Amino acid sequence: MNTLRLILGDQLNSQHSWFTETNENVTYCLFEMRQETDYVKHHIQKVIGFFAAMRSFAEELKSQGHNVIYFKINDESNTQSLVDNLSKLIKDYAIECFEYQLPDEYRLDQQLSEFCNSLDIETNTYDSEHFYTSRYELKDFFEGKKTYLMENFYRNMRKKHEVLMEGKQPEGGQWNYDKSNRKKWKGKPEIPHYKWFINDVSDIVSDIEKADIKTIGHFKTETFSYPINRSQALEQLNYFCEHLLIRFGDYQDAMHTDQVYLFHSRISFVMNIKLIGPKEVIGAVIDYYYDHKTEIDISQVEGFVRQIIGWREYMRGMYWALMPDYKTENHLKNTNKLPEFFWTGNTKMNCLKQSIINSLDNAYAHHIQRLMITGNYALLTQIDPDEVDAWYLGIYADAIEWVQLTNTRGMSQFADGGKIATKPYVSSGSYIDKMSNYCEKCHYNKKEKTTDKACPFNSLYWNFLDDKRDILGNNRRMGMMYSLLDKMDKGQLNSIKERATAIIENPDEY
Ligand code: FAD
Ligand code: SF4
Repeated sequence: MNTLRLILGDQLNSQHSWFTETNENVTYCLFEMRQETDYVKHHIQKVIGFFAAMRSFAEELKSQGHNVIYFKINDESNTQSLVDNLSKLIKDYAIECFEYQLPDEYRLDQQLSEFCNSLDIETNTYDSEHFYTSRYELKDFFEGKKTYLMENFYRNMRKKHEVLMEGKQPEGGQWNYDKSNRKKWKGKPEIPHYKWFINDVSDIVSDIEKADIKTIGHFKTETFSYPINRSQALEQLNYFCEHLLIRFGDYQDAMHTDQVYLFHSRISFVMNIKLIGPKEVIGAVIDYYYDHKTEIDISQVEGFVRQIIGWREYMRGMYWALMPDYKTENHLKNTNKLPEFFWTGNTKMNCLKQSIINSLDNAYAHHIQRLMITGNYALLTQIDPDEVDAWYLGIYADAIEWVQLTNTRGMSQFADGGKIATKPYVSSGSYIDKMSNYCEKCHYNKKEKTTDKACPFNSLYWNFLDDKRDILGNNRRMGMMYSLLDKMDKGQLNSIKERATAIIENPDEY
């Protein structure tokens, strides 16, 4: 039967069972489309990365003998709409059967299922064969439970997939080494140089310019440094195992003005577009650990495993368990606008300046910058979660809605009322000072609360707790903070609130 198979831009999984043999009756199609470049304003490096990886994947399939139709962004036959492109190919090639892999995004899932309902030819869907868990596995796991605790899910994943287990017990005797994953980096130990790839993307850059796609962020060279094909992705993974894993856990939460990546893997982009899968990432890390057990401590490895089989699978499961309502949740009723400096880095607050410039320059920030700097500030200043989502969804190369939304709206902004995080991730300047060197060269004083030079986080923090008392006051995990707030001198609280209000009203002046 003459069959058309769609490959979405984040479904570049060459290990998928679709590709085990060639079939002259099967044609694969991939489209660069305005539908995808324009639903939010993306970082220029994100668009480059997707197009580069898609083009490379299409070439790889062709070289293996598969039939491939590829629409570049400026091709005349490209309608720029998924449904219109598919309809056109179905007609032009007299297609008798249409097939696709289940998308990870709700938006595309809806669009494709509606499209299939409108067709009068056979249609079939396939799993993307990427994740450990199926779409609704987490939902079933938590069925009937009051909370969706990540730790419970994670332990079950460790047992089920026999990762770092000794029989029924966790290897090393502990499930979680989170507490030993909180070291500040002070210039030592030395961080190995980053693994850069030299991918010539000049043709893609000129295609993006010609199409006049509106983007954010910077791209300063002709070459693109993220991996864009499977062999580069595997190289990146091996580099992580050989050079970075040994300290990953220790410095997972550390931040530093001279270091963008520290000991992080930089692997999210290639995993999210499925050039490599989580099972092979975990397999490589565990094998390397067992071969180097005398050098690498279990806490480094467990810290990494938790991110992949814990957080990553959990976020995806939560997305499918809670969409579509999740996308509009705003439990804390936040309505402020995102400050202009989120798009420029033009602020006197050094922690924000560093994290935002980092994001604009590299389409990357590591987890703690996303959570405890930009996310923390957005929550303390009570920004509308729609605005926060749009920023996070656009700016990071790895941002795809299933993982961005749950992290941003849920974990970072507490807009889901605690389904993902049991309490809001907020802090004053002292946490930022504890984990980074940002405060050392900041215009503001990390210890002061109400003077002109006082760190804005210090007043924003107490003001947030006070403003949200009606909603958060009964949260048991916030009890200690509220009792400190209750003991605060009323005059001091008033001064704190006055300063916080001034910052919230004119954020770009600080
Ligand atoms: P490492 O620190 O080396 O971690 C290894 C891998 O673990 C990552 O590549 C990632 O696949 C996985 N991982 C770690 N933490 C998480 C998490 N919380 N959720 C899901 N996977 C995780 N990650 C994305 O992939 N896309 C996003 O759009 C995204 N948005 C985020 C927004 C906010 C507000 C926050 C707080 C976190 C977000 N994350 C997102 C999670 C995390 O910050 C990134 O996965 C990580 O920084 C990617 O860099 P890395 O590959 O060097 O990660
Ligand atoms: Fe950020 Fe405050 Fe430290 Fe400045 S003093 S870097 S604003 S936490």
